[in-house]
Amino acid sequence: MAGRDYYETLGVSRTASETEIKKSFRQLAMQLHPDRNPGDKKAEESFKAVNEAYAVLSDPDKRAQYDRFGTVGGTPGFESGFGTLFEDIFENFFGGERGRRTRGRRGEDLQYEMKLTLEEAATGVETKIQVPRPETCSHCEGSGSEPGTHPETCDTCRGRGEVRMSQGFLTVARPCPKCHGEGRVNKHPCKACRGEGRQRAERTLQVKIPSGIEDGMQLRLTGEGGGGVQGGAAGDLYVLVRIAEHELFARDGADLYCEIPVTFPQLALGAEIEVPVLNGTETLPIAPGTQPNEVLRLRGHGMPRLRERRRGDACYRLILEVPQKLSARQREALEAYAAAAQSDHGPLSLSFLERMKKLLG
Ligand SMILES: [Zn+2]
Ligand SMILES: [Zn+2]
Repeated sequence: MAGRDYYETLGVSRTASETEIKKSFRQLAMQLHPDRNPGDKKAEESFKAVNEAYAVLSDPDKRAQYDRFGTVGGTPGFESGFGTLFEDIFENFFGGERGRRTRGRRGEDLQYEMKLTLEEAATGVETKIQVPRPETCSHCEGSGSEPGTHPETCDTCRGRGEVRMSQGFLTVARPCPKCHGEGRVNKHPCKACRGEGRQRAERTLQVKIPSGIEDGMQLRLTGEGGGGVQGGAAGDLYVLVRIAEHELFARDGADLYCEIPVTFPQLALGAEIEVPVLNGTETLPIAPGTQPNEVLRLRGHGMPRLRERRRGDACYRLILEVPQKLSARQREALEAYAAAAQSDHGPLSLSFLERMKKLLG
């Protein structure tokens, strides 16, 4: 780069003011910036040259030295100049977009809905799922250009990504119609992905659902989402677990609830009844004198807790079913019971009678 005319490099005259030099530099640097011309060696060389020229001409002392001797000792090279002197300027140019341009576009996060039965949620599941997703094109490695080619700087906007239109006093900037604001035009789009950088694919993934998973929980499979473009990272895949309603059980955390119809004699006399648990049945003892709607528990027969050994309980609400038809023999027996129990009062009815008496004086 020695011997290159710095004024020529920046496209300004030898008498250009500091403002003119800065303005010209900004324009050129933006156009030639590596973020806008990935892989373009020529643009990179020009960008270095422009940086070097600006490092000298923007400094009054160095500029004077250069004007006198045609060279400057200790001229900052591309590396140091870019990192220090120009960082702030580029921050202004590209703002938050700069990082995105440098690292390419990250693939999107995807969600896969997985339906499980309550029994499967209890045991945990290891299964394969088929996930349709866009993957980084293997032919162009996500660049979107045929191997060996690169997008070229857009000649309509000269890489700026926008065109300015003057209307009277107003200058309006619009996204460049040719490159859609990209600043570059892909003249040799990849034949495999038609320049998209990605292709649709269906991928089989192994998924392990832990026992005790709850409805609505998500598992994240890092990097299994949409493929990145231009060197961007892949997104993540979220497996959303949906647990189907169970015929008998409602779930509350690790506890399972079931309503069990029982008869008056079972509650009054006590009984042992067969009740469902997940994957089988158990015997539930009912103590004599149990009230309707009471909830009895079988400890440890509920759902496993996520990442714990302890299980919840199976809970049974006892629903009293009153017979709607009675045989002659049943009616006789029941009438005999009613006659025998006429003056009996349990704690509920005693308390009720007490309060009613108070109210009536
Ligand atoms: Zn491709
Ligand atoms: Zn353009």
